[in-house]
Amino acid sequence: MQVVTSVAAMQRLAKKWQRTGIKIGLVPTMGYLHAGHLSLVQRARKLVGKNGKVVVSIYVNPTQFGPKEDLSRYPRDLKRDLKMLRGEGTDVAFVPADGEIYSGTGVSPVRSKIKNLTGETPVPLSYSTYVVEEQLSRSMEGASRPGHFRGVATVVAKLFNIALPDVAVFGAKDFQQAAVIKRMTRDLNFPITIDIAPTFREPDGLAMSSRNKYLEGDLRRQGIVLWRAIQRAQALVKKSSVPAKKLKAELTKLIESEPVPKVDYIEFFDPDTLLPVEKVSRGTQMALAVFVGKARLIDNARL
Ligand code: AMP
Repeated sequence: MQVVTSVAAMQRLAKKWQRTGIKIGLVPTMGYLHAGHLSLVQRARKLVGKNGKVVVSIYVNPTQFGPKEDLSRYPRDLKRDLKMLRGEGTDVAFVPADGEIYSGTGVSPVRSKIKNLTGETPVPLSYSTYVVEEQLSRSMEGASRPGHFRGVATVVAKLFNIALPDVAVFGAKDFQQAAVIKRMTRDLNFPITIDIAPTFREPDGLAMSSRNKYLEGDLRRQGIVLWRAIQRAQALVKKSSVPAKKLKAELTKLIESEPVPKVDYIEFFDPDTLLPVEKVSRGTQMALAVFVGKARLIDNARL
């Protein structure tokens, strides 16, 4: 496995592969890898074949974090990540520094005190181009984390231009993110197939996440309430539809009957438009975000 740290070197490599007709699969991640990430790497391999190239990017993207979020303490363990990726037969780990991604000059960024739309910007003022999806990114994660999807769409568009993939794999765990990226890819005519992998879970149902590291002691057990809420919703809509308001109230009660968890949002919506529904029935998409101590956990399911 090659470890590439510069944008120029990654583009050179990708262009060479492209010229010779070699298929490229990209898996963007923020590192601190778990089995969910590796399931995406395996899908990418299947999609490009044994002669194709699988590129996994590891980059904690500062522009998708709000000023009060966990950017500085986001878990990192590059050595372990690289070992896991080697074990999966990854061709290239693309591990750029902030200065590579947000200045183009290789100069390290300074945390600017000048405010932009999202508050303090963690990138140099000389960086000034962003990708903004204006429909699907407004609700849920977009409402709770202003500027989050602008950061996500921007970095993913950049990674598309750097790794030149034929196919890019994302997780259904981040349902709204997958929807925003599919829309961006279509709207901006990226010639890339977007593949969505199912959510990988711990045996007790907790969706795997790098942020599960924040769940110390009994919080790990309390973190299962998201999955329990999803299962309760699944059971309730099995026979008949239920008013969204009523279901939200019931699931909030269930989640907050544990000592620590506090609901950020629970939404029921159409899986294609992400527009909220008033009556929840089979086929409705559900998504929720819950604070469990220092961790903000998200999960979702098709009911
Ligand atoms: P992250 O490193 O959290 O930004 O995630 C990188 C990619 O892995 C995203 O496409 C996520 O949706 C996906 N991912 C994260 N956790 C899981 C999981 N438990 N199952 C499937 N995909 C996941």
